[in-house]
Amino acid sequence: MEKVIIIRYSEIHLKGKNRGYFERVLLVNLERAMKGLRHELHRTSGRYLISAFDETRLEELCGRISRVFGVHSYSVGLCVPYDEDSIYRAAREVCPKEGTFKVASHRADKKYPLTSMELSARIGGRLLDEFPALSVDVHQPQHTVCLDVRENGTALVFGTFEAGAGGMPVGTSGKGLLLISGGIDSPVAGYMMAKRGMSVEFLHFHSYPYTNDGAKEKVKELSQLLSRYTCTGKLVTLNVAHIQEEIHAKCAAELNVTLLRRFMFRLAERLAKRYDDKCLITGESLGQVASQTIEGITSSNAVVSLPVLRPLIGFDKDEIIALAKKIGTFETSVLPFEDCCTVFLPEFPATRPKLSFIEEEEGKLDVERLLSEALGTKEVYEL
Ligand code: ATP
Ligand code: MG
Repeated sequence: MEKVIIIRYSEIHLKGKNRGYFERVLLVNLERAMKGLRHELHRTSGRYLISAFDETRLEELCGRISRVFGVHSYSVGLCVPYDEDSIYRAAREVCPKEGTFKVASHRADKKYPLTSMELSARIGGRLLDEFPALSVDVHQPQHTVCLDVRENGTALVFGTFEAGAGGMPVGTSGKGLLLISGGIDSPVAGYMMAKRGMSVEFLHFHSYPYTNDGAKEKVKELSQLLSRYTCTGKLVTLNVAHIQEEIHAKCAAELNVTLLRRFMFRLAERLAKRYDDKCLITGESLGQVASQTIEGITSSNAVVSLPVLRPLIGFDKDEIIALAKKIGTFETSVLPFEDCCTVFLPEFPATRPKLSFIEEEEGKLDVERLLSEALGTKEVYEL
């Protein structure tokens, strides 16, 4: 009797010719997630099976599997030869010894001597005989014993289905560059895009010496946490302090944030093109702050040609916070370190800046020189 983890993927996206591709990417992502933990991973028809793992690390293994996009559900169960006695021995391991239950059988091997109904009835009958505190309820049982007769002479026996992360395997929807701050929203935005199968790379702007090493460490920590979902390998940082100083010195104060954001987008696009990222991703949500109005968004979009994806645009802060808690980034996001956006923050930032005014103020700056100086501050951290 061998303990195994059964992994099922959602088949919705796996039509036709793409199927093999999706399955291969998911396999690679599962392998990557389990790196450093002993295991064997096999593909069987329509699912993956993990065996030969260290049972003392089962919880960690399941935690990692639960963060792999493309996994619909998984179960910890037993793999046994498919004769009735072996199946029964596994069923009595899996089934609690009191309460209501039912047995649900599935046969991939249609030549198996018993039908699904017969197999369920026999195993259920034996459980009832041996454990008098059990009773059958086929409609709303407290426990379900699932039997899956495979084609290779084995059967899988398990009791529960754990929900997987859902979505599509990361890497099947192209690659994008996430503008990651130390805040709550941008990590959630990265999570959302990875969930749809996009590979996500991280770019952070800091404002050293106005922001300190603590702020940078916080972003590294956030990136590390997020990379459990996004499979991201590196975090790139750029220093925008000098740009902020020039804006502060030369331009209308109410446009500080608007102008800085246009620099951020330009810098992000240049890096994205270098790294072959096909879009930018931000954590903006409509109307959340002064710069996230439709006018603010228009002003930032105007300086780039790559698409800018904003997966949180229609989310309330409460909904974003709930997601941040779910994915485990919230606690780190709320640590009190300054973001570059809060340095030189004007008292009354413009909420509806006119493009002509923005361009006039920006005309006071040597945009190209500032961009290339900022690009020269690039640092790369392996995650
Ligand atoms: P977040 O919670 O993600 O920090 P926010 O609500 O604080 O977002 P803004 O400060 O207006 O909103 O930032 C909007 C978006 O711009 C962020 O979600 C992020 O994608 C990007 N951004 C802001 N600051 C930075 C930064 N220092 N480095 C990289 N990207 C940033
Ligand atoms: Mg922020």
